[in-house]
Amino acid sequence: MSESLPQDANENSLWGADAIAAPRAEQLRASLRADVLVVGAGYTGLSSALHLAEKGVSVVLLEASSIGFGGSGRNAGLVNAGIWKNPEHVRKLIGEAAAERFNAALRDTPALVFELVERFDMPCQAQRRGTVHIAHSAGAMSYLEDRCRQLQELGASVELIGGERSSAISGSPVYRHGGILDPGAGTIQPLSYARALATAAMAQGASLFQQSAIETLTRAADRWLATTAHGQVSAEQVIVATNAYADGNSAGVRESTLPVYIFQCATAPLPDEMAASLIPERQGLWDTHSLLTSSRIDQQGRLVMCGPGRLQGGQRAFRQNWMTRKRDILYPQLRGTPWAFHWSGCIGVTSNWIMRVQLLAPGVFAPAGYNGRGIGTGTAIGKYLADIVASGKCDDFPFPIETLYREKWPTLRSAYYDYGTLALQFVSNRW
Ligand SMILES: Cc1cc2nc3c(=O)[nH]c(=O)nc-3n(C[C@H](O)[C@H](O)[C@H](O)COP(=O)(O)OP(=O)(O)OC[C@H]3O[C@@H](n4cnc5c(N)ncnc54)[C@H](O)[C@@H]3O)c2cc1C
Repeated sequence: MSESLPQDANENSLWGADAIAAPRAEQLRASLRADVLVVGAGYTGLSSALHLAEKGVSVVLLEASSIGFGGSGRNAGLVNAGIWKNPEHVRKLIGEAAAERFNAALRDTPALVFELVERFDMPCQAQRRGTVHIAHSAGAMSYLEDRCRQLQELGASVELIGGERSSAISGSPVYRHGGILDPGAGTIQPLSYARALATAAMAQGASLFQQSAIETLTRAADRWLATTAHGQVSAEQVIVATNAYADGNSAGVRESTLPVYIFQCATAPLPDEMAASLIPERQGLWDTHSLLTSSRIDQQGRLVMCGPGRLQGGQRAFRQNWMTRKRDILYPQLRGTPWAFHWSGCIGVTSNWIMRVQLLAPGVFAPAGYNGRGIGTGTAIGKYLADIVASGKCDDFPFPIETLYREKWPTLRSAYYDYGTLALQFVSNRW
């Protein structure tokens, strides 16, 4: 594995314990030629490889570690549409016409994910039962009402739900104020989805190699040449899909986002009666609290919760205790239940809160910065990039394409965020 990949606690991950087997993919030990080289086996890279291979384009994918090593194997599994920010935010940033295409493309990403799952019969515990952006207080409803209006104006089939419905959906005495229900969204087992995407891409003809970090990427005789420890790939075009897990060799992509850490805790399968009392219709929930948490029940009846922070050193026990306190307030019926799994991962955050599709050099694309909303986004960007790489035409690409962006003081700002959440978790003993 590349030494300089972001390292964070993933050894006790529920997804690692419970995922389907990965397809067999060796280390690169040859000199290969392809139309397109994809770097990174997360959703972006795997979706790019799958869609390119389906078009008959020859594609080699190189992964520094293992399939789904990055955010794609660690996330909360909420397959949501759009981005965190409201559609009006995008309009202000990139203008009316560009925002219309941007927002429309991201509105339909859950449909793309669930269609792929169905088409390739992916065993990834996909449940299209909706997700709810749920109010943690009565005051949060005015924000949600405005957000819901903006999403509906875009044509999204979301609905505002009231207090009674949100109590019934959550099974929580806290989530009793309402929320936005997106019935077309849902949940997946994230690592299984990544591995299933890899299986589908390989079945379509993509060549995939693990433990094969690119070390250099140079221009040679009108082609791009990537070298790894034991091999090399020459390609006409390159998709650098390393995102927040970019190592020091990822053509500067590491500095294009701010690394921000999130962690998760999961219980063992709950007794039937208890599991039936929590989120009984099995939507995925994420709330409006400034220390946001998400909650979902997986197919085996485990509660999986996600919140801000990193699990390392002395922070580990502190963060887990905070999550236990929060869980016991949200779902008091679980008091005394131990966590069986805890792990964390890194998301790529951008200063303007929208992702960046960067053109590093002619024929070298590097999307990054999904701001924690990457299952649908990564899958969709992979598909759209496959279209423009295969056709050579950018006209229908729905996102602005920019040059490499470098965030200012990423390490400092990331530490500020990390210690900021720690301080807030320290003082937030009640809801
Ligand atoms: C804890 C957590 C919870 C989240 N929850 C959600 C959620 O509920 N819903 C949602 O939509 N999104 C969520 N996200 C965000 C989502 O997981 C990411 O946006 C998404 O997985 C990014 O996919 P990607 O393919 O772009 O990058 P990644 O999955 O990070 O893949 C990048 C890959 O590049 C590889 N790589 C790096 N350098 C090299 C190199 N030199 N050579 C070869 N390979 C290299 C890495 O090893 C890695 O496997 C969450 C993220 C985290 C961490």
